[in-house]
Amino acid sequence: MSTAVTAPASSEVKPASRKVCLIGAGYAGLAAARELRQEGHAVTVLEQSADVGGQWLYDHDPNGHSSIYASLRVLSPRELMGFSGFQFLPRNSSNGGRDARRFPGHREVQRFLRDFCDASGLLDSIRFRTRVLRVSSMTMAPPRHGQEEPPKWVVKAEDQAAGVVEEEVFDAVVVATGHYSHPRLPRIDGMAEWGRRQLHSHWYRVPEPFRGETVVIVGSGDSGRDIALDILAVAKEVHIAAKSTEAAATMAMRKTLARHPHLHLHPQVRRLCADGQVVFSGAGGEEDSVVVLADSVVYCTGYRYSFPFLDADHQIAVDEEGGAVAPLFEHTFPPSMAPWLSFVGVPRKVPVPWFFEAQGRWIARALSGRTPLPPEPEMTRRVQERRRAMELQGVPVDRAYHLQPQEVLEFWEKYCGDLPPVEEWKSELMEAVSRDFEDDMETFRDRADDDDSLSENVRMGLQRWYGLSAQAHQDQDLGGGGAAAPGTTADQL
Ligand SMILES: Cc1cc2nc3c(=O)[nH]c(=O)nc-3n(C[C@H](O)[C@H](O)[C@H](O)COP(=O)(O)OP(=O)(O)OC[C@H]3O[C@@H](n4cnc5c(N)ncnc54)[C@H](O)[C@@H]3O)c2cc1C
Repeated sequence: MSTAVTAPASSEVKPASRKVCLIGAGYAGLAAARELRQEGHAVTVLEQSADVGGQWLYDHDPNGHSSIYASLRVLSPRELMGFSGFQFLPRNSSNGGRDARRFPGHREVQRFLRDFCDASGLLDSIRFRTRVLRVSSMTMAPPRHGQEEPPKWVVKAEDQAAGVVEEEVFDAVVVATGHYSHPRLPRIDGMAEWGRRQLHSHWYRVPEPFRGETVVIVGSGDSGRDIALDILAVAKEVHIAAKSTEAAATMAMRKTLARHPHLHLHPQVRRLCADGQVVFSGAGGEEDSVVVLADSVVYCTGYRYSFPFLDADHQIAVDEEGGAVAPLFEHTFPPSMAPWLSFVGVPRKVPVPWFFEAQGRWIARALSGRTPLPPEPEMTRRVQERRRAMELQGVPVDRAYHLQPQEVLEFWEKYCGDLPPVEEWKSELMEAVSRDFEDDMETFRDRADDDDSLSENVRMGLQRWYGLSAQAHQDQDLGGGGAAAPGTTADQL
């Protein structure tokens, strides 16, 4: 990665206030909205749903935005999911049925995001049930990087409650629309002819329809494993098809397979047959294939990026498979339109919501003029450099958005040095949780946090964190159990 340094923030520049349209009130949008407001911008958040939360706003209707299923619990502990200055502290479960577990269910995450909005005063900025249909520039040519005066964007949106389509003009647009809603389906021989049930994990909600069935799960990633276990409770048999059985057969997977004789791991699906047979690839060719007669196939094969509201002349392209968005300087700015158009939340596998806050802070300062961006050719060069480096390393295009911890650190050092870094004990805790997961994927969420394997550093960090939690509960009790915010203090926690 290039080491070129961006011009430092200048305290002498009087920050300009821009009229900003932010699309999406999920984790990323909310984190960025707070940063933009703190920098003095006038922010309007347009959100198509009736509440905040994005993916975490569970929707029993599988055709909605969210891909969350009913039983879902988070993969990372709540200690790692808070905003700076607003931690995801457990609230008394007696208080309105809150879920105080370290790895709570999806509903608790949505309620936490709602609490965050209340505490940050963000609700006033959000227009719910407002779906953005189109973002276009007012002039024939799209706004250019380095343009002194802000360009004008026309945002066309439908107020779904009133049934009215309206246009409004903004200085800048920030896109935070997520990327777990548009299914990416594999190409498997016979898919079109296979007459039984097949669905993508986006449409999966509850296991009951699969009772007594033989089910094939295509994909052994987080969703594949989780949904397999969910369905296993009611199905006759569950068969997971993995791209690489060697990689999928982790210690945790082997334990789970040993515990559940009706769960099986196979190589990729070679063919689906009209009579319901599923043929898995065999190591020794066709004659070596395992065949299963299945009732349903669930594709846990990931999601495509999609920005249907952006005009083609924005020069942002999503590749054919939907696995990449380019060109984006540091995953945030299209060089030719920076800083007037930006994206929050495109990278995968980044610390959530910390990375979203960092992106939001950088965008806010680039718009106000406090942190000028490099010239357009320099940004373009660096985007191309990264792509070439990825190609040389043989990184598949959809992995280009998995940032390495070192890259996250570099991002922070270059653009958001005054945002408290992810604390060391939290990074260590994340590694410890991954180890627990690798050990037993069925029980890792309910393991005690005073595990002997935790370092002194992590133990101390957890102690401080839960001290804060106890304080919040005391305040809550003194305040009559009302609105004591569950995460009001301590930037560094
Ligand atoms: C099954 C599943 C499990 C997951 N588990 C975890 C986990 O355990 N831990 C974790 O950290 N992450 C997890 N994630 C990832 C999670 O989605 C991200 O952490 C985070 O919620 C992404 O936030 P976002 O704001 O980028 O996107 P989203 O949450 O998708 O929010 C985008 C918002 O934009 C709105 N929007 C989209 N298009 C428009 C439009 N045209 N007009 C107006 N509004 C629009 C949507 O309605 C939505 O509210 C999981 C994801 C899935 C699918």
